[in-house]
Amino acid sequence: MRNRKMESRRREGRRRHSAAAAMAAAAMAALLMCSALSGCSSYASSAELKSQAEAAKLEATGSGSLLPENAGELPQADAIALESQLTQAAPVPEFEAVSDEVYVKTSDGSAVRVRSACDTSDPSNIIGYAPDKTALKRTGRHDQWTRIEYHGGTAYIASAYITEEAPAAGAEEQQAAGSGSSQASFDSSISLDPSWKYAEFSKINSGSATLYRSQASSKKNITICVNAGHGTAGGSSVKTLCHPDGTPKVTGGTTGAGATSAVAVSGGMTFADGTAESKVTLSMALILKDKLLAAGYDVLMIRESDDVQLDNVARTVIANNASDCHIALHWDSTANDKGAFYMSVPNVDSYRNMEPVKSNWEKHNALGESLVAGLKGAGVKIFSGGSMAMDLTQTSYSTVPSVDIELGDKASDHGKAALSLLADGLVAGINQYFGQ
Ligand SMILES: [Zn+2]
Repeated sequence: MRNRKMESRRREGRRRHSAAAAMAAAAMAALLMCSALSGCSSYASSAELKSQAEAAKLEATGSGSLLPENAGELPQADAIALESQLTQAAPVPEFEAVSDEVYVKTSDGSAVRVRSACDTSDPSNIIGYAPDKTALKRTGRHDQWTRIEYHGGTAYIASAYITEEAPAAGAEEQQAAGSGSSQASFDSSISLDPSWKYAEFSKINSGSATLYRSQASSKKNITICVNAGHGTAGGSSVKTLCHPDGTPKVTGGTTGAGATSAVAVSGGMTFADGTAESKVTLSMALILKDKLLAAGYDVLMIRESDDVQLDNVARTVIANNASDCHIALHWDSTANDKGAFYMSVPNVDSYRNMEPVKSNWEKHNALGESLVAGLKGAGVKIFSGGSMAMDLTQTSYSTVPSVDIELGDKASDHGKAALSLLADGLVAGINQYFGQ
């Protein structure tokens, strides 16, 4: 890992932007951009309401058999169906106190909801997803709900998805079946460690990211953090500091230049066809994950469902500590199919002299240039010079190469084939950056 970072540092020096180009891009950004990370407030509420409504609908449609064989398009569907029945059948359980290790067991390799309360009617009590075969510390036994220790606190999970038997040998190969990949094994879930640098600036951090280890024959031992932009319920009603030193933003966006705080996670835009940006970034992340694992990269997935309770600061700090680079996936809020570009680091002295930007901005821009080159090589349309200068929360807290890549806009094709092409381009760009 360290050697890779040194190599990338050496490469950075060759990829500096001209000051004039960056300033022009910054001016354009102020006019055009609805900042991806601080967000479009006009879209935030609708996207959130939509995702909450969908969650509620899913909870309520649990009319299937108790243990469906296959959850199909919805990886959590069987867990959801079962939970719904539990709500009708079970009052607050009385737990038998135990202290042992149990494991998540699903029929199709999907994850199970982890809740802060034994109540399926309230989507806000979902505090995470435990992937199949995850080991858990059990503190309370009951037929229908299992009480567990979860990130230092207490949480609950449906007992039908809990087994006392450790996963069988060879289980790692089967584990990834739910994602359609045979190239990965689940390694660990990673939550925000309060002792990590800048962790104290995060306001939403009860969720966790998931690290997948590549099982490809030729492993690279490089971890790519894939951050599906948006998708944090309640994220737009909380604010975090734009910069760790409390100074104001140097470029505009939805959160204007001069603001010192911005929404913790915005809701994202809505595509011209009505699809929420957060849905498309999630689909993109899952496709990219499989391609990276197949190429030999380990992958740190920030979000793998509609909601992860990690704000932009938490996502960034987790990436800083558990990956070699951080790629946040977004689509822009213009509507003219203008093409892909990355958010470069503004050429403003005060910003580039502020840590951790000072020590890392060249890496961010170098990674961005590589990603755009990879996309271009794959035949993806590129906007203007391929970059737009923007002062983002992500950039302001990143200590590993870190890029917000805008893969198109509201009018862009976001079908499976288009996303697959974009993923190919991103993998090529990552290969270029790491000299692979
Ligand atoms: Zn976005």
